[in-house]
Amino acid sequence: LFVVFEGGEGAGKSTQLEKLAARLREQGRDVVVTREPGATVVGERIRALVLEDSGADAPSPRAEALLYAADRAHHVATVVRPALIRGAVVVSDRYVDSSLAYQGAGRTLPVDEVSWLSSWATGGLKPDLVVLLDVDPRTGLSRAAARNQGADRLEAESVAFHERVRYAFLDLAANDPKRYLVLDAARPVDEIAGQVGRRVQELLVD
Ligand code: C5P
Repeated sequence: LFVVFEGGEGAGKSTQLEKLAARLREQGRDVVVTREPGATVVGERIRALVLEDSGADAPSPRAEALLYAADRAHHVATVVRPALIRGAVVVSDRYVDSSLAYQGAGRTLPVDEVSWLSSWATGGLKPDLVVLLDVDPRTGLSRAAARNQGADRLEAESVAFHERVRYAFLDLAANDPKRYLVLDAARPVDEIAGQVGRRVQELLVD
């Protein structure tokens, strides 16, 4: 089973991902927790390239899209597919939808091209479930800022950028409702965790 958490900055993905992994491990399941970008040695280098520099030193939008695609291709080939093949539950912090939302809607690259690039990178591997933690960018950005996460880089993007990203995620979910669980990230942590846990449990018994 392949579960992906998506959402804007400060949506609480990492907290929820850890809670889901803990719940599944308590049941004795083999769980692989992973993320994009940066889950592998190659990925960590790519993460530094895309996230450490901002302004004039940041990669151009197409270069950025290719770097995320390269990270994803390597991540799928060396982490995600091998784990799925041995029967593990893979839980990833971000996947293809982040590229559609950030590089597509955010940077205004044609979404169908970013989608093609992602499916080439992944060999067409799709998640069984995408948990979208929906957050208003103003709330999310102030949560992320409070943790001082990539403050310079986040400040470089406008609220309009983050709003495009948010609506792109919501659109993806609306177009494929069976594959998505959209939750309001402002709800209490344990309430969200309960909803995610129940949905994943349903998929595991199917
Ligand atoms: O989820 P995490 O905080 O690790 O994401 C790091 C940053 O990478 C996010 O702030 C997001 O802006 C950016 N990102 C992106 N495009 C992706 C994946 C992540 O711009 N495809």
